[in-house]
Amino acid sequence: MTSVATAISLSARPGGATSTCSPDLAKGPWEFDAGEALRGAPAYGPGASSGDHAPSSTPRQGQLPQEYKDATEAELHERITAAKEKLGNRVVVMGHFYQRDEVVQHADFVGDSFQLANAALTRPDAEAIVFCGVHFMAETADILSREDQAVILPNLAAGCSMADMADIDSVEQAWAQLEDLFGTEPDADGRVPVIPVTYMNSSAALKGFCGEHGGIVCTSSNAGTVLEWAFERAQRVLFFPDQHLGRNTAKAMGVPLEQMPMWSPRKPLGGNDAATLQDSRVILWHGFCSVHKRFNVAQIEKARAEYPGVRVIVHPECPMEVVDAADEFGSTDYIRKAIAAATEPTVFAIGTEVNLVNRLGAQYPQHTVFCLDPVICPCSTMYRIHPGYLAWVLEGLVEGEVRNRIEVPPAVATTARVALERMLAARP
Ligand code: SF4
Repeated sequence: MTSVATAISLSARPGGATSTCSPDLAKGPWEFDAGEALRGAPAYGPGASSGDHAPSSTPRQGQLPQEYKDATEAELHERITAAKEKLGNRVVVMGHFYQRDEVVQHADFVGDSFQLANAALTRPDAEAIVFCGVHFMAETADILSREDQAVILPNLAAGCSMADMADIDSVEQAWAQLEDLFGTEPDADGRVPVIPVTYMNSSAALKGFCGEHGGIVCTSSNAGTVLEWAFERAQRVLFFPDQHLGRNTAKAMGVPLEQMPMWSPRKPLGGNDAATLQDSRVILWHGFCSVHKRFNVAQIEKARAEYPGVRVIVHPECPMEVVDAADEFGSTDYIRKAIAAATEPTVFAIGTEVNLVNRLGAQYPQHTVFCLDPVICPCSTMYRIHPGYLAWVLEGLVEGEVRNRIEVPPAVATTARVALERMLAARP
């Protein structure tokens, strides 16, 4: 299988055939760390989120030592392997489904963010958890792991543009306005006016906010169960940061679209009138994933025209019209299991991040598996975890130095854990 990174570097050469969303993808991520330092403003780097606005509070990555930038892929592979061997059980490496293959091949566990945070719990012997994902995932691992375990994010600039679309200040302002409007008294059935629900793809501060305000966390696998839990306790839900997951899930549960107003931060009442909010069931935060926003109905029509009988499965972070046009929608885990469970050779057109789709294609050669988006455009921030950074943090551990530790303040971790535990208890 040609990895996405290899395909990108081949396409960036003169005469290369494959199109990419940015020729800058062929450069090392450190070139953008340096660029950010010069411009003084953080950015997500090339890839699907490159056009999104990165908040000024986005963590910055210091310069990677030159020896890691100059090393070839083979040299980095050897250095990572050697460092892992020396560290043995002292370290556990987590690789998210969307991570590049050059990194995933060194992972002890591969999965989605919550699977990986849970997998870390099975390794209490490890002194360090190296999380090859993005910032909110490392925070979740830190919340769930032992206090003396160090959670490491190899490149601090690996954030998540969707998670950054809802910050704690904007959510607190929204909450204050909703409390003014609805009050805090429960109705005759004991249901409070509103409950906050945050997607796993959010900062620890937002998970903590939910824990503190009777709310809960959801994943793309359990969003329906979590919304049912919330509707038993509240008249309506404030759902952040991903509008698409909220809308697609609530719509599948029968909530009418007109009862799902959008909340635009920085506008009074989120850009709504009071009557609309009073009548709402799910108030959707104006957030989205730039990877899943790339999928559209025309791509599905094209796949159906080229492959009659194709099975189209998309992620619930895709826009509603894409989910409606697909045959099925579900989390990365759902997609993986659907392909694994197909007993006859099948053509699958998948609407999720390209690294995972290509890996599934290689893993199940009896099927034809392709990404609905024909342009190679990975998640910008996952792409910031280059093997050079992984080698740097692992060799740091060998030398006794913990680099790029992610630590959630204890007060935030305590309330965030409450919201995560409610989610686990809500699981059917
Ligand atoms: S794929 Fe989307 S939601 Fe996932 S880390 Fe990337 S930007 Fe964030």
